[in-house]
Amino acid sequence: MTSPAQLLDQLRQIVGAANVLTDGDLTAWELDWRRRERGRALAVVRPGTTEEVAAVVKACAAAGVSMVPQGGNTGMVVGSTPDASGTQVVLSLTRMNRVRALDAGNLTITVDAGCVLQSLQDECEKAGFLFPLSLASEGSCTIGGNLGTNAGGTQVVRYGNTRELCLGLEVVTAQGEIWNGLTGLRKDNTGYDLRHLFIGSEGTLGVITGATMKLYPMPKAQLTAFAAVPSLEDAVKLLGLAHQHLSSGLTGFEVMGQFALSLVAKHFPQQRVPFWQESPWCVVLENSDNESEAHARDCFERLLEAAMEAGHVTDAVVAESMAQAHALWHIRESIPLAQAEEGLNIKHDISINVSRIPEFVNETNALLLERFPGARLVTYGHLGDGNLHYNVQAPEGDDQARFLNEEEAPMNELVYEVVDRYNGSISAEHGIGSLKADKLAHHKSPVALGLMRSIKQALDPQNLMNPNRVIKA
Ligand SMILES: Cc1cc2nc3c(=O)[nH]c(=O)nc-3n(C[C@H](O)[C@H](O)[C@H](O)COP(=O)(O)OP(=O)(O)OC[C@H]3O[C@@H](n4cnc5c(N)ncnc54)[C@H](O)[C@@H]3O)c2cc1C
Repeated sequence: MTSPAQLLDQLRQIVGAANVLTDGDLTAWELDWRRRERGRALAVVRPGTTEEVAAVVKACAAAGVSMVPQGGNTGMVVGSTPDASGTQVVLSLTRMNRVRALDAGNLTITVDAGCVLQSLQDECEKAGFLFPLSLASEGSCTIGGNLGTNAGGTQVVRYGNTRELCLGLEVVTAQGEIWNGLTGLRKDNTGYDLRHLFIGSEGTLGVITGATMKLYPMPKAQLTAFAAVPSLEDAVKLLGLAHQHLSSGLTGFEVMGQFALSLVAKHFPQQRVPFWQESPWCVVLENSDNESEAHARDCFERLLEAAMEAGHVTDAVVAESMAQAHALWHIRESIPLAQAEEGLNIKHDISINVSRIPEFVNETNALLLERFPGARLVTYGHLGDGNLHYNVQAPEGDDQARFLNEEEAPMNELVYEVVDRYNGSISAEHGIGSLKADKLAHHKSPVALGLMRSIKQALDPQNLMNPNRVIKA
């Protein structure tokens, strides 16, 4: 039996002593982004190549030591940090950050899994292409983490989740074999599509080391508007009109409740937040046009005129420059950070059919406020995809730790019960991690859970890949 000290020696031989971290401040790898849980790792191991990842996995598997794949550690559900046992190896992919190939004719790019999303976007833009995945965490999250969580973000309404953007994967299996599935093919019906098993599996089936992703032509113009809407019902009507007027040009449609915007105004006073004081809801929407800026503006103006005439919009601004567009998007992207500044909070990342969102929010708000008087509802998100971040901040002046300890479980139960009645999902884009693993057992059918367990057992029979995340043993 390999001892922990012997395993550490083997790992040092594989990746070099400087890339096996055991001492000093390991907070960046051991504490999750939301500061919900602090784990303790046997070591943080930072391989530089796929072959090194494979050798590390083989050594850990032989020693019976479990592994936690980690990218930017920006996940929301405590899935990328080790547990408190001090026995797990964190496998950090961030040294693997190369662009391997860009095939302009095939509209694909092949990258290492540790590439930071923003660097990937920048590389593509330099080459004249759009890589449309976009999240507020893009400065730190990695493409491996995006694939591991099947991340969504703000462009899903047009381009789909990370899954839809991925054509091929390279994966190190739980046994340390390298599966090279790095294909740029758009059609390949040769049996089970293995890539889809690993996408969204949150590191529980294998380690993603490389990926071939789809590229798109850069649009000629991208315009952003910020609109005040009288109600969520009106926001949904505006979405319908936007689909009609802009068709595939509609590349973003985000809704923001008044309290969510008030937190941005409070914690980031340098940002000018339009309309938040007078309107219960605001929407940020984006039109990407392959013809010209004039055409984009014309379409947008006609849409906003029609929406105002029908009473779905009370006021709106259209950005005059890219800088203004970024500033408007920045308001939306600052909401999670403003929430963190305000204090600990309870997050629900839910999805419901778009048409039923207003009814869901009205019903759940009433139930929540009756049972938890004073709770402050931070509602915002990707309305175009039927995905809301239906979050709750402690009542003003309340003890936040008490709020979280005592109210989180009953509040989750209440919200998820309504989600189930609406045939929605308890995790639209953030995944399950360890935070929601217990919940999954109650909200997925026994048949679905059985199939998931069979897949886990087949691919990771020793249960060493991110154990107790997603499904518990
Ligand atoms: C401010 C902010 C805004 C956000 N906005 C969004 C949003 O709009 N949409 C959205 O979907 N998410 C959002 N997130 C959540 C988070 O950024 C995403 O889940 C992201 O995809 C995580 O990437 P990461 O590299 O940080 O992964 P990590 O947090 O390191 O890991 C996440 C999960 O993926 C697994 N994993 C990581 N790398 C690999 C790999 N190479 N192979 C296999 N498994 C791996 C981990 O084990 C873990 O289970 C946001 C987070 C923040 C902080």
